[in-house]
Amino acid sequence: MKKIAVFGSISTDFVVETKRIAEKGETIIAESFHRYFGGKGANQALSIARSGEEVVFIGCVGADLYGDEAVENLKKEGIDTSGIVRTKEFPTGSAHITVCQGDNRILIVQGANNSSDFIEKHEIARLLEGCAFAVIQNEVNPKMNELLLNVCEEKNISVLYNPAPVTTVTNELLEKVHFLTPNEHEAKELFPEKTLEEMVLAYPEKLLITLGENGVLYAEGTNVKRIAAYKVAPVDTTGAGDTFNGYFISGIVKGYSIEKAIRFANKAASLSVQKSGAQEGVPFLGEVE
Ligand code: ADP
Repeated sequence: MKKIAVFGSISTDFVVETKRIAEKGETIIAESFHRYFGGKGANQALSIARSGEEVVFIGCVGADLYGDEAVENLKKEGIDTSGIVRTKEFPTGSAHITVCQGDNRILIVQGANNSSDFIEKHEIARLLEGCAFAVIQNEVNPKMNELLLNVCEEKNISVLYNPAPVTTVTNELLEKVHFLTPNEHEAKELFPEKTLEEMVLAYPEKLLITLGENGVLYAEGTNVKRIAAYKVAPVDTTGAGDTFNGYFISGIVKGYSIEKAIRFANKAASLSVQKSGAQEGVPFLGEVE
């Protein structure tokens, strides 16, 4: 069986719910506190593992308790964590989220996710042995994404690039990746001069734009296709894109056509939005089938 490598972020999310936001210098009592495992890399790896494919993770966490727990959480899902490096230089990445009357305020501390040079090129090459695809996002140091892309190019491994959170994408990068999967907002930032149709027509069979409850837009040759999402009542759409990306690449590795892999991923994502939490809601293969 071919493996999938995920190179990306691992984070702890600290979520506080409050009825109002504290003023400068003020201390107030909040309603609740929860801690979740997160990070786009970790979420996508978990989604691939639950879809029944073998995953090797490459990333960096701090030499702290949160790092221990995050690695343990991925191991529990059957993910190969031998490519996760522990650093004493930075803490494990974290997100500090305040939820107030339905609105989120988020502070990200990149910590270990932003470290560079934490892993040697030959070590990446070794971890990518036997991989059919590598998956990357933008929550890590861009230098490290570049390094991973170069190794993938040398080893002839295809790459799925989920450009989230959005940054500029060079033409060179667009040439190198096999799939690019922005959501609608990210796509508009990447290609501000184009309509969604023009975008997918410019990159047929490569650019997949996820449209939330409206599904996915992509092109087959000169044919623009929209694959509808499943109609559900969403509870929490955090991590919908991560579930989508994980299941989509899993479908591709299972040998599905792009259209079939999108339908498979839409179904998994529609199940995930019916539960709260980015990872808790990710369905297992059996539920999707
Ligand atoms: P992101 O989470 O990255 O912002 P989207 O919001 O585009 O990405 O969602 C990714 C995918 O998740 C969609 O293409 C769709 O399959 C599924 N999805 C998201 N929101 C809903 C929804 N409200 N109902 C059904 N499916 C959804």
